[in-house]
Amino acid sequence: MKLRLLADHPVLNFINTIDPREGPHRVEYLSGFADLVDWARHGGILTGRNARKIAVEGKYNLRDATRAFKRAIELREALYTIFVNVAARRPAPSDAMAQLVGAHRDALAHGAFVRTGDRFQWVLPATPDFVRWRIAEDAIELLQSTKLNRVKRCPGSGDCGWLFFDTSKNATRRWCSMEGCGNRAKLRRFLRRQKRPAPDSRPAAPTPPIRPHAPSAPR
Ligand SMILES: [Zn+2]
Repeated sequence: MKLRLLADHPVLNFINTIDPREGPHRVEYLSGFADLVDWARHGGILTGRNARKIAVEGKYNLRDATRAFKRAIELREALYTIFVNVAARRPAPSDAMAQLVGAHRDALAHGAFVRTGDRFQWVLPATPDFVRWRIAEDAIELLQSTKLNRVKRCPGSGDCGWLFFDTSKNATRRWCSMEGCGNRAKLRRFLRRQKRPAPDSRPAAPTPPIRPHAPSAPR
């Protein structure tokens, strides 16, 4: 999995597993359970023994894995609806919120407090639904954060629409990545300034679709 993790938050990175996120040229990066596990490893959500156990279970328990994958994607789309509205300062639709609350309730029903040393730890079982549960927990936490207004949507060209969590000091981050969408916007402004009036006004040739986050050099 080479998809870039630019969002500075696991929930928003999960939402950004479609690239670009909007428009007719969207590319889906998660096409099955193995992709989901691969992405979760890449994003640090699944590590060590858990990752191996869940990957193996996905191979031998196809029915459960397929169901878990479908539910994870449904949650991802509900989260996209919620957080794209959060970024636009609009209320989140109640059916998407209900999906999230349902996934979170599932996580609560399956997790357990385990004593580790001098404290307790909330642990989710290593089953095919692990990623969905963990993401639901993180999303609930983010929604309650006082920094929720730092969730933003990239206005980049090519229908980028990726979401990110602005960790900049003065909350001035505008793009999913300065090297990608930010530079393209800069270039467009530059070209606009250079443009002379054309002698005739033939329509411009259509521009090819842009995939803003095609794997390239690390950020
Ligand atoms: Zn972007």
